[in-house]
Amino acid sequence: MAGRRDLPNIAEERGLAAHLSSDEPLSKHTSYQIGGPADFFAVVESSEQLCAWVALARELRQPFLVMGRGTNMLVADGGYRGLIIKNRCLDRTVDTASHTVHAEAGVPLARLARQMAETESRGLEWAIGIPGTVGGAVVSNAGAHGGNMAGVLRQVSILDQQGHVRNLALGELNLGYRTSRFRGTAPPREIILSADLQLVPESLTVLRERMDRYAAVRRATQPREASAGSVFKNPPDLKAGQLIDKAGLRGTSMGDAQISHKHANYIVNTGHARAEDVLQLINLVKERILRLFGVELELEIELVGEWQRDHPH
Ligand SMILES: Cc1cc2nc3c(=O)[nH]c(=O)nc-3n(C[C@H](O)[C@H](O)[C@H](O)COP(=O)(O)OP(=O)(O)OC[C@H]3O[C@@H](n4cnc5c(N)ncnc54)[C@H](O)[C@@H]3O)c2cc1C
Repeated sequence: MAGRRDLPNIAEERGLAAHLSSDEPLSKHTSYQIGGPADFFAVVESSEQLCAWVALARELRQPFLVMGRGTNMLVADGGYRGLIIKNRCLDRTVDTASHTVHAEAGVPLARLARQMAETESRGLEWAIGIPGTVGGAVVSNAGAHGGNMAGVLRQVSILDQQGHVRNLALGELNLGYRTSRFRGTAPPREIILSADLQLVPESLTVLRERMDRYAAVRRATQPREASAGSVFKNPPDLKAGQLIDKAGLRGTSMGDAQISHKHANYIVNTGHARAEDVLQLINLVKERILRLFGVELELEIELVGEWQRDHPH
């Protein structure tokens, strides 16, 4: 039976090998600039390539994960045993008359938000400061400034566990606060290939003013150092950042990882932080917030890869 070591050979036979590397440091592909090597790492630029790689990984029973821009994940220092598929599928079709767009999952969300504003379409302005892809945004129902993906999505096209491409309507996505049917499920997960968004007409002047305002809020409130955005979800009717602040944890460091002075729900990498440093801060925060306020914080970011010891998430 074909196994892990055959992956490069079979990829070569199928014309996929040009996009493959081995022992690729994931720190180069995450906004945290943290993460050990992936055994195999493939960059895909079309949905056909994406489907072909997923099919190959499934055939070889190789653990795999599709990533966008790595802006919502903390990858272990030990890296990832298996195949990481980086989605750079960037096709999009905008219909300016109906204010709709069909975007492949690898399209950067913030760039799409600007493009849609240029076509005088309202609905994505909240996304201008979010550094991930359309696919990653569907997975966590990304949102900000009162908007989110659920407000604009019509349907997504997926590759299901059986290898079939099919469409899922908005109501089938189970979108909630930073969650969807795609989050937290054990592999093999469904893969998002593209999304159809419906926006509404609005003047460019209004949209520009709104985007400038949102960008200014981000500059004023969010740290500049490497991060993956907010680490914890806000508990119902509470702000995780405020609880962390009240607990006196702002500025706490572990190695080069630090609970940001500027925004206590961010843990930033001030230099050469290790994933273990960030994880220790995460566990410290969780333990302290539970003890002081009886609140169990839930992670917004995802932990990926091979960790030295069991972690409670
Ligand atoms: C400075 C900063 C600010 C941020 N601000 C916000 C904010 O305001 N609001 C917010 O919601 N988020 C925010 N984020 C978090 C992050 O940008 C979003 O969650 C984004 O949607 C993640 O997209 P990504 O492509 O980077 O996903 P990744 O981190 O690459 O992946 C996240 C998860 O999605 C899965 N995934 C990715 N693509 C696919 C696909 N095509 N099919 C199936 N699964 C897939 C991955 O396997 C992984 O499980 C911020 C991050 C940073 C660094």
